[in-house]
Amino acid sequence: MEIISGKDISKAIRKEIAEEVKRIRDKDGKVPHLAAILVGEDPASETYVNSKGKSCKEVGFDSSTYRFESDVSEGELLEAVEFINKDPEIDGLIVQLPLPPHIDAQKVIQHVAPEKDVDGFHPVNAGRMMIGLPAYIPATPNGILEMIRRSGIETSGKNCVVLGRSNIVGKPMSLLMGRNDDPGNATVTVCHSRTRDLEKITAQADILIVAIGKQEFVTADMVKDGAVVIDVGIHRVPSAEKKSGFRLIGDVAFDEVSPKTSYITPVPGGVGPMTIASLLMNTLKASKKEIYGPVE
Ligand code: NAP
Repeated sequence: MEIISGKDISKAIRKEIAEEVKRIRDKDGKVPHLAAILVGEDPASETYVNSKGKSCKEVGFDSSTYRFESDVSEGELLEAVEFINKDPEIDGLIVQLPLPPHIDAQKVIQHVAPEKDVDGFHPVNAGRMMIGLPAYIPATPNGILEMIRRSGIETSGKNCVVLGRSNIVGKPMSLLMGRNDDPGNATVTVCHSRTRDLEKITAQADILIVAIGKQEFVTADMVKDGAVVIDVGIHRVPSAEKKSGFRLIGDVAFDEVSPKTSYITPVPGGVGPMTIASLLMNTLKASKKEIYGPVE
């Protein structure tokens, strides 16, 4: 069994990005710039946005955060998006979700210019990904693909089971694993809350990708010997042994499942660090106009 360290892989990616940024800066004088819109004071959103800013700084990107009170109107938010869309200094824009209930999050996402939508949430990017055109791929599935690629895991012809069908993880993941590419070319089954005989389906998986948001849901009896298991879940549970008073666990019961696997991602240190690395990769692509080419 081999543990896939998202921590190590993401470190290598950040180093590569930092070197590329240095080259770009020396050549053009401009570095990639990621902007984030943050509404309200949700501590988790605050933490995510701060850590994205910190990661940007580490690789030499510029970053800026546009903060709004939780009672901001939808109109004001849309204006801010348009303002950022037009700013030639800003390459990528993310809108930290969730937004307050009086704001239509889809409407805001659809206002982000597709060429700056480094989260890959805009329907244009989702559609382009679906038909195999260059597109920003959402950070978590993109990070998982990169982990699979860099670990040398063969996916072609394999049975891949994806647990979960959310728009940000399960759905794009299943599409990407099934597309005619490398990684890809797997035979994909998507499971969700209405799936019958789930354990029988997961037990057939050569590659099992779990994103259902239920603590240690996948147990050893659900996993085939020698399977590759990717655990997307993150849950905080109380722990007297930790200074912080909590520890992180995933959607997979790691201790009992890992001995059966050929490769497995841990929590923490697996998919989590890859998600931010992947956002940085998308922002670099945006600054190099790799997906859409120069905007006229
Ligand atoms: P989500 O939007 O809550 O989607 C969960 C999916 O799991 C849904 O499709 C749901 O089915 C399915 N599901 C729920 N209970 C099930 C059950 N008992 N049997 C089978 N399927 C079931 O979750 P998400 O946003 O994809 O996130 C999943 C987990 O990943 C969470 O723990 C989240 O915190 C974590 N996450 C981590 C990262 C990272 O960077 N590591 C990034 C994103 C998310 P229905 O569609 O039928 O409701």
